[in-house]
Amino acid sequence: MNWDLLLIDCRAATMAESGAPYGAIEDAAIAVAGGRIAWIGPRRDIPLGTAKETVKLNGRWVTPGLIDCHTHLVYGGDRAAEFELRLKGATYEEIAKAGGGIASTVKATRAASLDDLVAASALRLASLMGEGVTTIEIKSGYGLDLENERKQLRAARRLGEAGLVTVRTTCLAAHALPPEFSGDNEGYIARVCEEILPAIAGEGLADAVDAFCEKIAFTPAQTRRVFETAKKLGLPVKLHAEQLSDQGGTQLAAEFGALSCDHLEYVSDEGVAAMARADTVAVLLPGAFYALRETKLPPIDAFRKAGVPIAISTDHNPGTSPTLSLLLMLSMGTTFFRLTPEEVLLGATRHAAQALGLQASHGQLKTGMAADLAIWSVERPAELSYWFGGNPCAGSIKNGSWVKRCA
Ligand SMILES: [Zn+2]
Repeated sequence: MNWDLLLIDCRAATMAESGAPYGAIEDAAIAVAGGRIAWIGPRRDIPLGTAKETVKLNGRWVTPGLIDCHTHLVYGGDRAAEFELRLKGATYEEIAKAGGGIASTVKATRAASLDDLVAASALRLASLMGEGVTTIEIKSGYGLDLENERKQLRAARRLGEAGLVTVRTTCLAAHALPPEFSGDNEGYIARVCEEILPAIAGEGLADAVDAFCEKIAFTPAQTRRVFETAKKLGLPVKLHAEQLSDQGGTQLAAEFGALSCDHLEYVSDEGVAAMARADTVAVLLPGAFYALRETKLPPIDAFRKAGVPIAISTDHNPGTSPTLSLLLMLSMGTTFFRLTPEEVLLGATRHAAQALGLQASHGQLKTGMAADLAIWSVERPAELSYWFGGNPCAGSIKNGSWVKRCA
């Protein structure tokens, strides 16, 4: 057999269901060919073959490349000034008057050129990739009209063009009400369903459709219209659901076979049961939980009992989760939500892949899957959520090619 790359002297947390914690293989070998994992297993069992490059990893751990399955990474401006005002005691109204809040991000995103958006987002993406992220989902939702939603999604697509990271795009036109539709939610949802989504889908700019179902955003009935449109257009759906209150959005999303429901602090037992039936992933977002100083925990035990897969993501956005670290989210997932280190790692690998519909090709170290790997200078996988504020990522590989070469 001929391989492009052979990794030896390593331990693999395959995250596959092998019976061993983390699907671990001690003293593993991983052979890569044609961008895929050609063989993985205990080194003693490796078939005869030659590799163009063989790398000894000195006992380091290898995991699937991390997957950040919920981000709003592409936007103009930031909200640091507003953050500072708020901490100096400004009220919500004063901040809104000073042009703050989501409206300010919409304004800055509309004002930015495509190139500006790509440049600003590429810096943020580089931080995530430095921690072994090889796949990321990026939502629109700060354009809120066809021209600017399109611009955001094009910027997201462009971030993936160099092939160093897989970018999955989600159209979140139903994120908030744009200023020109003030007081007319119905009118805006009609615009989303009749104009924005069909055009975006027609241009192949979105891999999925998302909405924000909440008192401060859109009702379940309006969300249903968005989902019906997505279904007609052949796009899978996801939902920002039950973040601030229980709207029953989760049941609605499950009815449409949603890939994921995200946030979920206020999800009901019925919502959890519906997600289990639809095999919908629960994407938990501890960064927003932290920044908003929430106290209501998502029902972790109910998810576990019902067998709902749990993913963890940054929810990177300028308002409520301006984090540049998925590893920090893994730590917060353990500390705030009491998830185990193995659960949070599954949440950024196998389950995150499922939240993007990529479970057949990504999120595990298995023969035939994409050779997306992260290499860690740790003694055990639990360290990925044990340390916080550091970065033990020693190297990463995307589709069989080095993104960050091990020293
Ligand atoms: Zn979000």
